[in-house]
Amino acid sequence: TERIERHQYDVVVIGAGGAGLRAAIEARLAGKKTAIISKSLFGKAHTVMAEGGAAAAMGNVNSNDNWMVHFRDTMRGGKFLNNFRMAELHAKESPSRIWELETYGALFDRTKDGKISQRNFGGHEYPRLAHVGDRTGLELIRTLQQKIVSLQQEDKKEFGDYEARIKVFAETTVTELILDGDQVAGCFGYYRETGGFILLEAPAVVLATGGVGKSYKVTSNSWEYTGDGHALALRAGANLINMEFLQFHPTGMVWPPSVKGILVTESVRGDGGVLKNSEGKRFMFSYVPDVFRKMYADTEEEADRWYTDADNNRRPPELLPRDEVARAINSEVKAGRGTKAGGVFLDVSTRMPAETIRKRLPSMYHQFKELADVDITKQPMEVGPTCHYVMGGVEVEPDSAHATGTVRGLFAAGEVSGGMHGSNRLGGNSLSDLLVFGKRAGEHAAAHADSLSTRPRVADAAVADALRTALAPLANPEGENPYALQSELQVVMGDLVGIIRRRGELEDALVRLAALRKRVGNVGATGGRKYNPGWHLALDLRNMLVVSECTAKAALEREESRGGHTREDAPGMNPQWRTKNLVCALDGDQVVLTHKPVPTMRPELIRLFDRTELSKYMTDEELAAFDALAE
Ligand code: FAD
Repeated sequence: TERIERHQYDVVVIGAGGAGLRAAIEARLAGKKTAIISKSLFGKAHTVMAEGGAAAAMGNVNSNDNWMVHFRDTMRGGKFLNNFRMAELHAKESPSRIWELETYGALFDRTKDGKISQRNFGGHEYPRLAHVGDRTGLELIRTLQQKIVSLQQEDKKEFGDYEARIKVFAETTVTELILDGDQVAGCFGYYRETGGFILLEAPAVVLATGGVGKSYKVTSNSWEYTGDGHALALRAGANLINMEFLQFHPTGMVWPPSVKGILVTESVRGDGGVLKNSEGKRFMFSYVPDVFRKMYADTEEEADRWYTDADNNRRPPELLPRDEVARAINSEVKAGRGTKAGGVFLDVSTRMPAETIRKRLPSMYHQFKELADVDITKQPMEVGPTCHYVMGGVEVEPDSAHATGTVRGLFAAGEVSGGMHGSNRLGGNSLSDLLVFGKRAGEHAAAHADSLSTRPRVADAAVADALRTALAPLANPEGENPYALQSELQVVMGDLVGIIRRRGELEDALVRLAALRKRVGNVGATGGRKYNPGWHLALDLRNMLVVSECTAKAALEREESRGGHTREDAPGMNPQWRTKNLVCALDGDQVVLTHKPVPTMRPELIRLFDRTELSKYMTDEELAAFDALAE
């Protein structure tokens, strides 16, 4: 019989990015025995790759900024589909979470008078992103890890053991949540290096597993982003919302092919970079949608003046929200005005002195020099859209981060959760989201563990099931090749559920995904248990598949275009659809889709907007309700 390593914890956090680390810190500060699990090496999460910064209305660079302006920008960015309460908590609490990081030892770039510096980013009215050059995520992770080490040192003093109350399981993949009735009872997984199995028993589990990008070939995401947390939640009885909304970042590298998709940070545009087509035209001026017309410059002269005098000029259209810029690039390339490699030009070389470029965008300078042999201080970059971020995720109660649905004791924070960003996330709002809701998830997971009079039990049968499922591909070496299946999945998603969608193609995608699901059921892996990436991918595939089905189903259902969901056959936003969230749940292995109303903003929040703006998004009934409020 298989030996399964077994541990007991109060709180288990799956994922060691910003959300997971912040949740674990909070649970440990509440005195709980806490485990952190990460699929890759500790410290190597998407959070570490974040470049631009963390959005927080501290008002350091423009004192007009405050939480209400940030809230408005976030709701506009998400096209008013956001869970307003999450957007409100996020806007109010982000500054404290950033300042708190300083007390943990973070060193942000500074303004001349010594405050945390803040930079411009798409969709943010004022300079708002706290940053460290273009390596903000690195500082965030470094600081959170350092805080964890300092807590471990305290525990060493008190208990003689660094890991008495907080332990990291690195290179460990969770494959299953274990339930006791409707209660989370723990999780099951394997060590990547040895292939040994591990069971962590806990009455509270926080999902902080990040995104789903690896279902697409052209993506900024790294190998571990296979939607595991999304799928674990579904299988445990939780709901996913907003899965049709995927963010295609406008600027990924397009050349050479081996690096296609790697991110080119939005800071390049925030700091003055401009987009040009192959005819040399700065084309974004032709793509400002009506809802944003008043806020964006209509001449290059005004746009350029904005960088030095933002109060008296309107923003350059290169800084529209990401969905707008990605669609614009897509249209230019389609119209035959793209580069040979299928992108457009992004230029800083004619906009800033070489010295400034190297100082403000050091990683971009090196990335292009090393990967593409392009010197961005002398030549333009070539860029195009890349699958970057999933707005959809686990539906949670906003204040507690507790998952909705039939399961108790399951929490979700960071990219794996849904609702906060509506149909489109603003750049910089993720790093702040991680901190705000990571903390909340940790706090409420700890409280949940305390609230139970008896601990849920892990039944032997549940463990046996999890073990059987994990070993199935190895018992089937003649089965389907996981790499072939993954690349077929990527073709279906990229071609049929990509940046621009159509009814017929989405229907086709669902048929193909159903066929792939059967084949994934017969996936095999050769070789043994020790560090076997083929086996690991075989296990990830069922997660990618169910999450992709949610995306395709919801994309077919939503007959409008909004944020990260563009339907060529249903252009424009439809106010009736704004009131609806699409909810995915599992019935057996079938994805079931239902409609649920988007929560209505509280009066004092809705009054932060003027009626003309609301009328662009809302139904007549909603506007009548707004008018009644005003009277
Ligand atoms: P992640 O940081 O993605 O961490 C997920 C963790 O879960 C990892 O430790 C992973 O190993 C683990 N995990 C996953 N599955 C399992 C499993 N089955 N078992 C165990 N562990 C598992 N956002 C901004 O706000 N500003 C930016 O400037 C910015 N720049 C970005 C640049 C790049 C290149 C990328 C890819 C993203 C960027 N983003 C940015 C987005 C942001 O970085 C991510 O959305 C955010 O970091 C997600 O954080 P997280 O804590 O939710 O998850």
